[in-house]
Amino acid sequence: AEELFVRSEKLSIAGQLAAGIAHEIRNPMTAIKGFIQLIKSDLSKRTEYFDIILSEIDRIELILSELLILAKPQTVTFSTIEIHSLMNEVITLLNMEAILNNVEIITDFYEEEIYILCEINQIKQVCINFIKNAIEAMPTGGSLTIQINVKDTNGVHIRFIDEGCGIPDSVLEKLGQPFYTTKEKGTGLGYMVSKKIIENHNGTITVSSKLNEGSVFEVFLPLNSIG
Ligand code: ADP
Ligand code: MG
Repeated sequence: AEELFVRSEKLSIAGQLAAGIAHEIRNPMTAIKGFIQLIKSDLSKRTEYFDIILSEIDRIELILSELLILAKPQTVTFSTIEIHSLMNEVITLLNMEAILNNVEIITDFYEEEIYILCEINQIKQVCINFIKNAIEAMPTGGSLTIQINVKDTNGVHIRFIDEGCGIPDSVLEKLGQPFYTTKEKGTGLGYMVSKKIIENHNGTITVSSKLNEGSVFEVFLPLNSIG
């Protein structure tokens, strides 16, 4: 199979609209969920219906929380973060999920500390998205290698290298399109949100993939300073 490279482009989606919708739906949903839980605890019969309703609400909540990331937060707090320690925190968070899926996370870090100016929660969200996608791309297990290095003085390269199913052309074309997913329980928002966040940090995402061999998602972020 031939190797494919796709450069991320600026998105023209209405992020503010998405945020508005997400906020407007989230509040009544929280109330509905609370009352269903109250009613459920009072009834012994028909609890399965409540369980279905609750799991559907959970799904809407997941979609809304991903859409909310698209909104420019009221207070964007950029701070200087050491990228290896950020990555280690994210790995700790997802390590159990990886183990349960027979995925070994291997780190190939730079020998020195690397500091970047970023919105820490947003960059964590990006790393979570790529790690989750890698795990989901390896249903029978495999290894996910996370490489961090500073190729030159103006940026850090973070690579998520999986041994998964790879990405066919038809999917690659649609990557970044909201709600496009090949998964039964996917939202199709993870990549789009990640791309938006990285662009807000003046970075880029590059995807390369070989069918049935694996994929590499490379994030480039401009450096604030090198430790
Ligand atoms: P979701 O994970 O909810 O499906 P994403 O936006 O994260 O949404 O990903 C969109 C699609 O891109 C996925 O459904 C999958 O088909 C494809 N994809 C993303 N990452 C990978 C990967 N590491 N390996 C194979 N396919 C991937
Ligand atoms: Mg995803």
